[in-house]
Amino acid sequence: MTTPVQLSIVIPVYNEQENLPLLFDALHQTLDQLPQTWEVIFVDDGSQDRSLDVMRELVRRDPQHVRAIAFRRNFGQTAAIAAGIDHAQGEIVILLDADLQNDPADIPLLLAKLEEGYDVVSGWRKNRQDATLTRTLPSRLANALISWVTGVHLHDYGCTLKAYRREVLSGFRLYGEMHRFIPVYAHAVGARITELVVRHHPRRFGKAKYGLERTIKVILDLFTVKFLLSYAHKPIYLFGGAGLLIMGLSAAMLAFLFVRRVFFHVGVLGSPLFQMSAMFFILGFQSVLMGLIAELLVRTYHEAQGKPTYTIRERINFPDHDAHSAAQQ
Ligand code: UDP
Ligand code: MG
Repeated sequence: MTTPVQLSIVIPVYNEQENLPLLFDALHQTLDQLPQTWEVIFVDDGSQDRSLDVMRELVRRDPQHVRAIAFRRNFGQTAAIAAGIDHAQGEIVILLDADLQNDPADIPLLLAKLEEGYDVVSGWRKNRQDATLTRTLPSRLANALISWVTGVHLHDYGCTLKAYRREVLSGFRLYGEMHRFIPVYAHAVGARITELVVRHHPRRFGKAKYGLERTIKVILDLFTVKFLLSYAHKPIYLFGGAGLLIMGLSAAMLAFLFVRRVFFHVGVLGSPLFQMSAMFFILGFQSVLMGLIAELLVRTYHEAQGKPTYTIRERINFPDHDAHSAAQQ
């Protein structure tokens, strides 16, 4: 390819053989109208059906636009998305599901929003076409919780269809179900985020791969994300804070026992409060020590990887750095 790719569409694929050709046609219909140069990266997440063969066929039909990555086994949607992002060349990366539930026709609308100066445009399936009890309802609760905990207010974290400026995608790794938290990470590096209502269609071919259990994983991941974003640089604030609180409780119990002993002549040793106080003291002290160990880990993390503890949006008048390499930090 001669001209650089401006737009990368990343698509995780797991057993979607019927959907891929239709998706490919729909993508062409939309993307051929755009002024940008584009590529589609299909990531086959260890499909057991003919998805990979179909992908090979699409690459053969349109080598200028289509690329494919095949995993050795099923690593999950998040890993597939991460691999796609790692291989994307465009300044703009758009994530999209392979099952035609997201509509490629929304891509120009997302791009228009990016043009307005945003770094992340998050799709919102306002009219979602999935099972209510196991999917839509739990996902609503999860979205409210994520918004509250992270302070990044989006209606639909779970919607894969989102557009990103590449520079806000570097500097973190995705584990578990964490692709939905990309906007939260992006927010942490200072990205401007907005959302846009997108279409959502029922699945016609293949099956949905998830049920209620996914929401539980998402909530557990939320703990990690909150910890990493709020305390990863200063874990002692969390562990030490909790430790001091518990030790404070221990001291309060002791004080109570002491007052009761001196003024009311009630024995100390017989009370369960005394044992609890001792236990709380040990627990609190351990927690502070754990915080100190975590502080050591953080230093290893940053220093071993040469990761700075900040991100820079722009460098002005530094000849050696352009805006892009600044964002790579
Ligand atoms: N997917 C994947 N690996 C998996 C499960 C799903 O790459 O282990 C892909 C799947 O092919 C689809 C997208 O992730 O493109 C979303 O999956 P699905 O439609 O089942 O999820 P839902 O839309 O119900 O959230
Ligand atoms: Mg789907």
